[in-house]
Amino acid sequence: MFTREIGCVISTDNWPLYTIYGESSIVYFPDEFIWDVHINHPCEIMTLAHTHPPYCISISNEDYTTLKAWSYAFSPKHISMDVISENKDTEKGYSHRRHWFTLQTLEQWISAGKKGERTMELHYIDIDEKLFWAVHMLNMSYTHSFISEKGMVLK
Ligand SMILES: [Zn+2]
Repeated sequence: MFTREIGCVISTDNWPLYTIYGESSIVYFPDEFIWDVHINHPCEIMTLAHTHPPYCISISNEDYTTLKAWSYAFSPKHISMDVISENKDTEKGYSHRRHWFTLQTLEQWISAGKKGERTMELHYIDIDEKLFWAVHMLNMSYTHSFISEKGMVLK
């Protein structure tokens, strides 16, 4: 049974830096936490990955807003958001989709007459490669309890 969403901050060299335990239908990436990661690992955040319940590969409104805000904050560096969801119709048993925004460049905005805010456009690709951290995150989403850093069992 899908128990909770799991979030992971993945580095530019494709390595999970931090894991966040979410709830059954949401996982938060707290602002202060992301800034801390950014300061401790300068320019190393590639993607905010998280699991979704089975067959739910689209980003939620909350995800959309979060990704848009971080994309603006980190611009011109790119940051993306990966969603991993069980899907038995696929060869690897799950779907993995990466989303990111492109921000209109300052030059484009100026040449377009400086109207309103710079526009942002959402893109996505499906990742076919079976990545170890994606598999691990999905497994953790189906586990019932966890041992915290202090040795407490979290349910
Ligand atoms: Zn989500």
